[in-house]
Amino acid sequence: MIPILKDMTLEAKRVFLRVDYNVPLHGNQVGEAHRIDSTLPTLNFILARAKTVLLASHLGRPGGKRDPQYSLEPVRAYLQSKLSQPVILAPDCIGADVERLAAIAANRIILLENLRFHPEEEANEVEFCRALAALADVYVNDAFGAAHRAHASVSGMVRFFRAKGMGLLMQKEVDYLGRLLSSPQRPFVAVLGGAKVSDKIGVIHNLLPKLDALLVGGGMAYTFLRTENVPVGKSLVEEKQLAVAKDVLARAQAMRLPLLLPSDHVVAQEVKGSDPAETVSVIPADKMGLDIGPGTAAEYAAKLSAAKLVLWNGPMGVFEEERFFSGTRAVAFALAASKAVSIVAGGDTVAAVRLAGVEDKISHLSTGGGATLEFLEGKKLPGIEALETNS
Ligand code: AMP
Repeated sequence: MIPILKDMTLEAKRVFLRVDYNVPLHGNQVGEAHRIDSTLPTLNFILARAKTVLLASHLGRPGGKRDPQYSLEPVRAYLQSKLSQPVILAPDCIGADVERLAAIAANRIILLENLRFHPEEEANEVEFCRALAALADVYVNDAFGAAHRAHASVSGMVRFFRAKGMGLLMQKEVDYLGRLLSSPQRPFVAVLGGAKVSDKIGVIHNLLPKLDALLVGGGMAYTFLRTENVPVGKSLVEEKQLAVAKDVLARAQAMRLPLLLPSDHVVAQEVKGSDPAETVSVIPADKMGLDIGPGTAAEYAAKLSAAKLVLWNGPMGVFEEERFFSGTRAVAFALAASKAVSIVAGGDTVAAVRLAGVEDKISHLSTGGGATLEFLEGKKLPGIEALETNS
């Protein structure tokens, strides 16, 4: 059992809130604020009750030492503008100065400086965990994107708290993703794409027995097609994954699970070449498949419109280039139009859904990259395990 915010006593408490503010910066400004915005409901919930909130995050890879270009100051400025309340950036994430700041009643929202300025954060070092824990009475984790890391602020420090639980964003992730694994509504359809089979094989293995259909697109489709002796030209093929792909196809067949592969393709000689992209059903020897074709997109869309639950991870083509975006856009539109509960996971796939302009029509855009994939592989995430009441 993991306590959720509404079951926790926050009144008059100092709350340590682990968030994932690892956002892209443009100079000294936040470039893409989605990760910050999605923690605002949790933050407002806590602010309405608690005495002080201490926000903690990592940003980039400063390599365990203080580096001003990885300061959370731009995040502080953005957060202050969103909350219309003073947000104070602490000079560090632990130590006497931070404790003094936190003791001043007027300082209600304190953003701790980058956790990764200390090598002990990633090392999960016990004295560092103790120093972080000394700052607060209650621990809340809303950093789903970091939950697969056994780092101090995610895992080690949590054992020092009796009062601990998950924030609203973490709760939403665990609810939606947990539903895929425990009691999926059916038909349950997964759309998997992106560059490589090797990145997704753990998810495929774990989900295969639960699915009613698996639709494969993107670069990884060509490894599967190759095992079926379909000509793939110069498309991306992972030679080392051919046996794995063959095994997945055999398992799907034995389970009578429809595993759909592209039947037409948008091809070109190069991703950024000047030769025109064309739609083919047989890939010529000198071309590569860079998007699913319109026939495949229509077939996949029909499966999505009949589904009750859909997981989509991985674009259907090189969506970053407009001429190879059509297949991904068609899947995004079909998902938006479907009545299914829709879950989109992975940074590129979420970006593609936004590019298609349909993010408001998707039930859940997962904020985790590696964390989401590991969750769907069935692994226990250290950041979630640490919150369990008996841990
Ligand atoms: P992933 O992070 O595994 O979801 O992969 C996303 C990347 O896969 C994107 O950058 C796409 O450009 C790339 N991708 C999708 N389809 C293809 C393809 N047919 N050939 C090469 N790369 C692809």
